[in-house]
Amino acid sequence: MTQLGFGRDVFRPDHDAYRESMRRFFQRNIEPNVRQWEIDGFFPAELFREAGRAGLLCAAIPAEYGGAGGDVLHHLILHEEHGYSVGGAALEAGLTTDLTATIINDSGTEQQKRQWLPFFASGEGIAEVGLTEPDAGSDARGIKSFARRDGDDYVINGQKMWMSNGPILTVLFTITKIRLADGRDSTAMFIVPMDSKGVTVSKPTELMMKSCGGASEVFFDDVRVPARYLIGEVEGQGIKQALKSITLGRVAAAVRAVAACELALALTVDYAKGRKAFDQTVFDFQNTQFKLATVATEIAAARAFVDASLARMEQGTFSAVDSAKLKLFCTELEGRVMDECLQFHGAAGYSNEYPISKMYAFARIHRIYIGTSEILRTIIGRSL
Ligand SMILES: Cc1cc2nc3c(=O)[nH]c(=O)nc-3n(C[C@H](O)[C@H](O)[C@H](O)COP(=O)(O)OP(=O)(O)OC[C@H]3O[C@@H](n4cnc5c(N)ncnc54)[C@H](O)[C@@H]3O)c2cc1C
Repeated sequence: MTQLGFGRDVFRPDHDAYRESMRRFFQRNIEPNVRQWEIDGFFPAELFREAGRAGLLCAAIPAEYGGAGGDVLHHLILHEEHGYSVGGAALEAGLTTDLTATIINDSGTEQQKRQWLPFFASGEGIAEVGLTEPDAGSDARGIKSFARRDGDDYVINGQKMWMSNGPILTVLFTITKIRLADGRDSTAMFIVPMDSKGVTVSKPTELMMKSCGGASEVFFDDVRVPARYLIGEVEGQGIKQALKSITLGRVAAAVRAVAACELALALTVDYAKGRKAFDQTVFDFQNTQFKLATVATEIAAARAFVDASLARMEQGTFSAVDSAKLKLFCTELEGRVMDECLQFHGAAGYSNEYPISKMYAFARIHRIYIGTSEILRTIIGRSL
């Protein structure tokens, strides 16, 4: 099982070495502690700093900004390794500051890159994108949070929901409405430090799964941030800046989903081979072998889709529509695989003592965040 993820043509030896380090980090720093963090509802900020010290964060950010100077595949290995670890499922969003770092790298000013990227690469900075609100999820036009210019600052009022890693965030990349100089309403994205006066964070919302992902509400009450915290120092680009980086977010969800499928299959084969019923193992039933054979075949197809997509990402020929197709296919498959795999565990699969229950519950969110399956179908449909 330790070989999951290795031996793929798309990766070079330096990618495999990075994966090896990442996997060791999950085994040593995360797996033994997850139970306690699930009780707390979130994992400690120190985990980001440990990952930063181990050189595991912002692998794809240029070295001059504190990153490891790697490529998009390094970035995606971090997400895949969340999928190859049961602890990764419990972390929910996990060690994913590199997505917000990508927004700065893609859309930030030179000064913002120098100020924020080393902060994220070290693990001192923990960031998430704040788009969703009580009245705005799939339809971002419903955003009510509002920013207005006041001298050298912006003043922000509003509310965000479901902010991953809420209790440990140091900054939230907050997307707000804004009135442009010509009177039109548009959007903007701000780096809002969580210790700013007027920011409050709720306790994590209880989720379907026992998670340590900290999904929280965040409230802004006359929160003042300097104008240089407006990403790109340009108004009217908030949604566009988020969309520019969302392709990567969708691929990250897809690669994580397929990795989780591979782990689920491996765990299920082990379990079925060890569990006896009617004088044979559960694995010996033809039904088990047929169903798991189908699962294995579908995973192999998804793996081929993922690796071909990664190769095209590296070449720069992968589009937003491609990422919608990949996320749709891989996360829908994940739902089916987790359901089949849980079934072969019987009652054990429904218990928190066995990892498959956590993986099953976590898989469900993949079809909802970073674009629901319906929104992805809409994007793909429009392209036809
Ligand atoms: C654990 C967790 C962590 C999260 N982390 C974050 C985070 O860090 N930052 C953040 O900004 N958000 C986060 N979210 C929020 C998530 O991104 C949203 O839940 C998601 O975008 C869907 O929005 P919604 O929940 O408002 O659903 P809605 O938009 O209300 O959708 C409800 C249903 O209607 C369907 N629907 C909507 N529009 C259409 C359409 N045009 N055609 C067909 N069907 C449609 C949807 O697909 C869905 O099935 C998180 C959510 C969870 C549960």
